[in-house]
Amino acid sequence: MLLLKRFILLVVLALVSCATTTDPLTGEKVYTLLPTEEEVKLGREYIPQSIAQGEGLYPDGEAQEYLRQLGDRIAVHTPRRLPYRFYLLNSSAYNAFAIPGGGIFVTRGLLNLMEKESELVGVLAHELGHVNARHHARYLEKVVGVALLLQIASLVIADDKSTTDDVILQVAAIGAGLLTLKFSRDQEREADRLAVRFAVDSGYDPYALVGVFQKLKRAYKNTPPEWLSTHPLPDSRIKEVRSLIDSKGVPANLTQDSPAFYRIKERLKAHEGAYKAYEEGKKLLSKDRKEEALSKFLEAARLYDRFQMAYVFSASVLADLGRFEEALGYANRAVDLDPELLWTRFTKGYVLFRLGRYEESVRELEYAKRLVKAYADTYYYLGRDYEALGDFRKARENFETAIKLAGGKESWLVDARHRYNRYKRF
Ligand SMILES: [Zn+2]
Repeated sequence: MLLLKRFILLVVLALVSCATTTDPLTGEKVYTLLPTEEEVKLGREYIPQSIAQGEGLYPDGEAQEYLRQLGDRIAVHTPRRLPYRFYLLNSSAYNAFAIPGGGIFVTRGLLNLMEKESELVGVLAHELGHVNARHHARYLEKVVGVALLLQIASLVIADDKSTTDDVILQVAAIGAGLLTLKFSRDQEREADRLAVRFAVDSGYDPYALVGVFQKLKRAYKNTPPEWLSTHPLPDSRIKEVRSLIDSKGVPANLTQDSPAFYRIKERLKAHEGAYKAYEEGKKLLSKDRKEEALSKFLEAARLYDRFQMAYVFSASVLADLGRFEEALGYANRAVDLDPELLWTRFTKGYVLFRLGRYEESVRELEYAKRLVKAYADTYYYLGRDYEALGDFRKARENFETAIKLAGGKESWLVDARHRYNRYKRF
């Protein structure tokens, strides 16, 4: 019975996805389909990584809930049945993106830029357009291949013991490709077309999407929005969306706004000072002005006591300054605030390592590794922990993975090679 249900579900999903898998250029059906169930599994693997790259989740439950509800209201009008999940990221960059399987992310910076709820709906509907047209999945099918994807999907959800270095490296490579995936003009056109449809079907004014484009173009003069680096936006695209909406005709009485949107905007505004201090801290840190950076991060944490990344940076700079006990206090608070974030777990693990509390450090770093498999630093410090604990086989394994994952600029890379050679025979 269960098997039959599963079979029917697969057939239904296959039919749903087949409807949108015709290649817009050639008109041909795509035969190598990644089953939706596997796409969802694989996509789940990249949720913690996407959140880590977006500097964590925005630490306000009400804002997250607002985005989730708004996203769900649009998602029900889309043809692909997926477990859609919407996340408000902490980053001040102007960005929104989707990953395979239905994960959709919007940054605090982009939400700040939006002036009407219908604009935010335009952004979400556009990302839902990419997901419904299977643009991410098609990229994976083409670049990675379905057989390998299926294998990886089954391995990454199995226990950690079966994840070999090969799988970890594949996961890393796929993640890097996915999170910088640049869409073609045709794919953008298709996502825009679907966005207009989804917005209207959910009762929102689709012209707001044009407003979003114009705002992003204007913002470009100061800081190039990240959104534009993955979603090309030539002037012709703005014209096309406008004339598409004109030609369709828009029903009267579409929604522009809601009181909830303004309430959330107000909540974001209340923490502006904390975010300003935080950004200044990051700038100072990039110039290696650690003491000044620290005071900015501490200020940010004081101004917004749930701001997990302010605690993460405070802990990390304190550790750099050799003030490990103080660093641990901030790292503990960061983990309490956001236990599912790579940066809180990693930073606590790192500080515990520096304090010589190796077993506790291993616990945090193993947790960090389960969250994001492709972060090289975790493996290096795990190697150091296991080495200190006398487990040279595990030390060697972790140094080896760290070296394979390293991008080349890591300060510990030479040391990792040295230690790896020392424990080669274990
Ligand atoms: Zn796009």
